[in-house]
Amino acid sequence: MFGETSPVNGLLSHQSQEDIPAAITDVGCERELNEDRYAVIDSPAGRAWVVCDGMGGAMGGELAAQLAIDAIRRGLETINYDTSLEALKGAVEEANRIIVLRRQNPAFSSMGTTVVATLIKGDEVTIANAGDSRAYLIRDRAIQQLSVDHTYVQDLVDRGALNAEEALSHPQAHVLTRCLGAEPRLSLELQSYWIWNVTSNEPQDKLLLCSDGLYSLVSDEEIADIISSFSPQESCVQLVELAKARGGYDNITLAILPLGGQLREENPGGQARAAAPKKTRDIRTAKKKQPPRFRFSTKTRMILYGLLMVLGMVVVTLVVLLKLAKH
Ligand code: CA
Repeated sequence: MFGETSPVNGLLSHQSQEDIPAAITDVGCERELNEDRYAVIDSPAGRAWVVCDGMGGAMGGELAAQLAIDAIRRGLETINYDTSLEALKGAVEEANRIIVLRRQNPAFSSMGTTVVATLIKGDEVTIANAGDSRAYLIRDRAIQQLSVDHTYVQDLVDRGALNAEEALSHPQAHVLTRCLGAEPRLSLELQSYWIWNVTSNEPQDKLLLCSDGLYSLVSDEEIADIISSFSPQESCVQLVELAKARGGYDNITLAILPLGGQLREENPGGQARAAAPKKTRDIRTAKKKQPPRFRFSTKTRMILYGLLMVLGMVVVTLVVLLKLAKH
């Protein structure tokens, strides 16, 4: 069992390899440059882990990813925020602003970067993402994607025009609909969770942040199996080797963070939040999408109004004609 101490080497084994987060980045087998970046940032706002996957030709991708990491670090270290959500949002929005400004240089006019980041303060975990770098939760060999891909094909999947398997092999699988640097106003995906203590019989969660160079070549099930079987450090090495054995055509970056408990959407100190539901929900069932509310589009509403008006006019005409016929 990890985490146990023994009288012989108690100090050394107090924190086992299982408890220590790890991250890795690899250029892969085909690219000359590594445009992925990762960072761990200790700040007054908490400890942040960030993975960025830059794009934009020549040196643009590397520059965008590095600018993002530097700006997020500066934002978290220097600005006072009231909440973790505001801190991560503010820092990532500042990174977006800086990349948008630097794109005015024609040499870097097409650069941008994805971002997936988590900020952990006490038992609160905030996750932000823009683009197709992902955050996954791994619990006892089960895996769940927490982040939302901002890609053209994900839009098609959401609209039911494509299924998830077709999306993976779609020629435009990696066309992004959001990233840092694309627009002055960034629409950032943000989620808050809390780490709950569990008994020694219950599995503890691990969080994975990664670029598409990993999940394009290694399935979710394989990722879950490896991360559940090995320490974060060993898992990082094995997952990179697996992606490279399958071609490694893209840069590969990942960070694995043991959470020391289970991630849930409810705050353990929930009594402070009057609206918080009493019943705790498992993270795997809590994220089910709500069915969309049935609403007509503006165009459909216009057509319906038109039809109603025509129907009204027909009724009025019929009434008038009937009256005339009686006379
Ligand atoms: Ca990539």
